Amino acid sequence: MLAAHIASILTVSLALASCGADDGKADGDAGADLVDAGGAECATAVGANPEWLLGAQDSDLRQLTGIEATMTGATLAERSTVSNRAATREFLQARFASLGYSPMLDNYGTGANVFAELPATVETTDTIVVGAHFDSVPGSPGANDNATGVAMVLAAARYAAELDCRSQHIIFVLFDEEEIGLVGSDQFAQLIGRPEFGANVTAVHTIDQNGWDEDGDRAFELERPDGTLFDAYTSAKQVAGSSMPIHQTNTGSTDHVSFRQHGFTSIGITEEYVNGDTTPHYHLSSDSYATVDRDYLASTTRLMLTMLHSSVIIDTAALRSLDSSQPRASLAKRYQAATVLERDASPLRPTGCRSLGLSR
Ligand SMILES: [Zn+2]
Repeated sequence: MLAAHIASILTVSLALASCGADDGKADGDAGADLVDAGGAECATAVGANPEWLLGAQDSDLRQLTGIEATMTGATLAERSTVSNRAATREFLQARFASLGYSPMLDNYGTGANVFAELPATVETTDTIVVGAHFDSVPGSPGANDNATGVAMVLAAARYAAELDCRSQHIIFVLFDEEEIGLVGSDQFAQLIGRPEFGANVTAVHTIDQNGWDEDGDRAFELERPDGTLFDAYTSAKQVAGSSMPIHQTNTGSTDHVSFRQHGFTSIGITEEYVNGDTTPHYHLSSDSYATVDRDYLASTTRLMLTMLHSSVIIDTAALRSLDSSQPRASLAKRYQAATVLERDASPLRPTGCRSLGLSR
């Protein structure tokens, strides 16, 4: 399994040369806010552009990269050591709580993921997972890699909670120990497929590095989109009236790989990692707040929010049909049941070598 995986990621870079050229223009404003659907409570997606987005993401980036102390009182010069990762988790839990969530720690021994669930408003087990790794390499503030991804997940958590109607549950998760070999995401992927966890995972979206756009075209890449997931983003682009180029690539080396290996329909979101417009500060001390393009981050985030809304939108007939006579067990109870059985140790994948498309 592992050998096959390594072989597959080593062949990835060979396939990358065939990626299409940019042909779009810069993304404009991603459209109007949600509109009321004929007086019903369910809003219709016409492009997600919440007014708080830029400010919220700027604040998250500043706290994650040590520009300012976190709301929990830590200064995170990097997010690699045991103590700094613990301090980061504390901050992330506080952020989820500030959005109205009851976040949980998925402690698997060497590290811990932070996750939270937004319930559907109908009776279902269908669940979308949106995640990003929060750790950095030693000595790097990890602004692009991957405070940007964390800021996208937190924005999605805030945005989705503002939607009145949701046909699926959404789990938001921030992974530990991606940089040493996709460990946190592998551990989480082992967990969420267990029947005790009570989730029929329909799609997993992970984000890694989304803060560099030197040519200003707002293009981003979708990595190994399974099933109809590429279409989900191109449809969202139409809904939003956006012209940003969206490229499909075959690169792995980050968290979506873990989920695909455990059988989940998955996709990775990133800046133009393959198409040549990616941060030159990768894994360096200069991967700092100052070198992140926050307008670009917000641009990709808007598209992801629109995709998310389109994925969970339901018609008004199904509105709030959640059967309260058979309440779903709490996330804490389902997590507890699912973790009675131990998980396998995660296979450590080679790290730190971008040219080979390994862990980033
Ligand atoms: Zn990364």
